[in-house]
Amino acid sequence: MQTNLAAFIKDTPEGREADAILRKCVHCGFCNATCPTYQLLGDELDGPRGRIYLIKQVLEGAAPTAKTQLHLDRCLTCLACETTCPSGVEYGRLADIGRHVVEKRVPRDALSSAWRGALRTVIPYAARFEPLLKLGRLTRSLLPAALKSKVPTAPAAAGAWPAPIHARKMLVLEGCVQPSLAPSTNAAAARVLDRAGISLVRAESAGCCGAVSFHLNAQDEALDTMRRLIDAWWPHVEQGVEAIVITASGCGVTVKDYGHLLRHDPAYAAKAKRVSDLTKDISEAVIAEGEKLKLLIPPPSSLIPGQRIAFHSPCSLQHGLKLKGKVESLLTSLGYSLTDVPQTHLCCGSAGTYSILQPELSQQLQANKIAALESGKPEVILTANIGCQTHLQSATALPVRHWIEALDEILPPRA
Ligand code: SF4
Ligand code: SF4
Repeated sequence: MQTNLAAFIKDTPEGREADAILRKCVHCGFCNATCPTYQLLGDELDGPRGRIYLIKQVLEGAAPTAKTQLHLDRCLTCLACETTCPSGVEYGRLADIGRHVVEKRVPRDALSSAWRGALRTVIPYAARFEPLLKLGRLTRSLLPAALKSKVPTAPAAAGAWPAPIHARKMLVLEGCVQPSLAPSTNAAAARVLDRAGISLVRAESAGCCGAVSFHLNAQDEALDTMRRLIDAWWPHVEQGVEAIVITASGCGVTVKDYGHLLRHDPAYAAKAKRVSDLTKDISEAVIAEGEKLKLLIPPPSSLIPGQRIAFHSPCSLQHGLKLKGKVESLLTSLGYSLTDVPQTHLCCGSAGTYSILQPELSQQLQANKIAALESGKPEVILTANIGCQTHLQSATALPVRHWIEALDEILPPRA
């Protein structure tokens, strides 16, 4: 695709990056076939090819409008289009650049601004989110139906966190909402890695990864959040942790991108790259220890007799981290029986704050995903990202859990 970027962006790092991405796109439209919003709305401007054109026009000097912003807002950033694109177009990076430019030029109305500001003020801070969640649980019966479904019931207890006795150590991202919504996930990860001879450790004062603010187009605020997390982690990195483990695949995509996002910051570029290089999704850490763990597992028939499991692969896991099929293969190799799930490439509609900001589209995607997951008559749904987990749980009677908890349960306790 030929480009002629406008002077305001042409010679900036963002302009050069956007230009290189745009020039890769051959306008074939293959990506539209796997785009959830294009499938639902049937509008070229609600598919990746149309959004790429919208961004191109803005970067070439056209004035963005509220309609431009709407089409970009409706994008889930699920990155199914990147998986499909035969030309390697990095749609996600282009969307980040385009959204940032549009956000600065198209003012939002007061309600939308206040709502987005409130999300940025609460969600990334566990100390603010947790009391509000507790209040929501106490007043659940009084809430309107739309809000009620967003307030999950009290989670299962986390269980014990093993003492850090091993020479091999990995650091874990605690995250912002996950400790309140599913404290058992990281504790289960710690117990599984402990059986493999690895201590999972937590960093004092480490908080959100920055994804919430970044995807609400508050990118400078997000970069500050990332710097704070790097500062909190750095002493552990210097002490030689062998990996940074992330149990929410959505956060994993962001942390693996720190090196790129902070590459122009002289004080943080090298540290950010080191953090990204160390970052692993929990599936990568467990798969690397798979043989050791398999030896610990008694014959599957005695532990999970006939339990049928549907695995929901989050977009961040399959399209963002490019780990499609890895957890499914691991679970199968460990003896689990997975049901067939049609159209696994499609988003469930959670997508960070999307389910709050675009409720109609989100609910359609949620209903389609639940139907697909339930079609094989499973008894439990397993997934790999807290956002998908709570979003799906709000629409099904089946238990929805992180897969690491299921693995934790079948491994015998440490002797
Ligand atoms: S992004 Fe890729 S798949 Fe989509 S139109 Fe461009 S080249 Fe084709
Ligand atoms: S990121 Fe997802 S929703 Fe956005 S254009 Fe690509 S496929 Fe469509």
